[in-house]
Amino acid sequence: MIIIDGSEGEGGGQVLRTALALSIVTGQPFRIEKIRAGRQRPGLMRQHVTAIEAACAIGGAECGELAVGAAELHFTPGKIAPGEHEFAVGTAGSATLVLQTVLPALLLADRPSRLVLSGGTHNPSAPPFEFLERVFLPLLRRMGADVEARLERPGFYPAGGGCMAVEVRPGAAQLDGLELLDRGLLRRTEARVLIAALPGEIAARELATVSEVLGWPEEARRIDQLPERVGPGNVLLLEAAFDQVTEVVAGFGRIGVSAERVAEQAAKRMRGFLESKAAVGPYLADQLLLPLALAGGGSFTTVKPSLHCRTAAAVIERFLGVGIAFSERDDGCHLVAVRSG
Ligand code: AMP
Repeated sequence: MIIIDGSEGEGGGQVLRTALALSIVTGQPFRIEKIRAGRQRPGLMRQHVTAIEAACAIGGAECGELAVGAAELHFTPGKIAPGEHEFAVGTAGSATLVLQTVLPALLLADRPSRLVLSGGTHNPSAPPFEFLERVFLPLLRRMGADVEARLERPGFYPAGGGCMAVEVRPGAAQLDGLELLDRGLLRRTEARVLIAALPGEIAARELATVSEVLGWPEEARRIDQLPERVGPGNVLLLEAAFDQVTEVVAGFGRIGVSAERVAEQAAKRMRGFLESKAAVGPYLADQLLLPLALAGGGSFTTVKPSLHCRTAAAVIERFLGVGIAFSERDDGCHLVAVRSG
């Protein structure tokens, strides 16, 4: 039995989700203690309960009673059950993170699946839908996965109510490895604001700030005014498409934080990435480790690896016979290499 200390490293929900994902793929049971002990509100939140329920349904698993706030979980996986599944977080908790938990098992299953996931699709501290669609899934497809996601309705914090559909058609029994050392040339940039039930000038001010910080051209800007009923919500999405990879940086509008500040923070993060030579941004780095480890290997260059990334690596090494090495290169990029055995 694998025993995980949820307070180790980053001490967040990703430790739990990575363990769930790998447990259902490998059939190894695990126990996790001190769940999310590193967070302000430790223990399971609604979103994590839904991720566990999804892992139980798709992994044919057993885990006893689940309660918000619980600090411990015993999880025993069974037979993977692809097919049609619907999971609802029920709050604005992230639906994309529920997908992160069950997608690896479905990619390697023996039948196709269709998931309908509802909850938040654009949450702070989680991948927004467009990150999934434009950054993460294209790389999975390059690794041989046949997977597509469609946003049916956006769901913002705090109202939630978003929905996305995901189709997975498994092919090979294993994913192909991926070498992503060089991002290639920058081909396209876009600054896009999603806004619902909030004054339109917020979007204009965000885009003006992006232009000041990044100098992106007028034609690379877009405002998507969404129906009032999905609001209130405001997200700025900065996209940079290179030959080999796309990066999406998100800025989430918040009460009490000016539109300029939201946009400036996001634009500076994008500027930092553009100024580096790295192929992979800080969030993609932690999310790519698991597919690469399942593929048996791969490597990528990235910016300074986050604690999230190192923590995910440690959990993956517990479940799979892989080694994940981090090293810094002379050009300031970091190299992450996943090797089997
Ligand atoms: P945790 O904080 O442990 O619940 O994990 C959060 C997960 O969401 C990690 O996999 C992060 O890479 C991912 N994440 C957080 N913020 C973003 C963002 N702005 N864009 C893409 N992914 C994100």
